[in-house]
Amino acid sequence: MAAYLVRGKCPRGCGETLMLDQSGYVFCSFDKCPQPDAAYLLLEQAPKFLAFIRNDARLLSINPTIDQP
Ligand SMILES: [Zn+2]
Repeated sequence: MAAYLVRGKCPRGCGETLMLDQSGYVFCSFDKCPQPDAAYLLLEQAPKFLAFIRNDARLLSINPTIDQP
């Protein structure tokens, strides 16, 4: 599945590992992340910001063809 690189860092300290998949789910792509959905859970508290990220990824088409492991 294609995914988009999201600017910003995983709240669990993995670094700049956040990705956005085609369903609009934001997750940490680091395979040893203790909580890959940490960013998503935070974003759920801020729906407007999540909508902005999704729209931004669509407009910029950043790394449009990164394959998931
Ligand atoms: Zn992480």
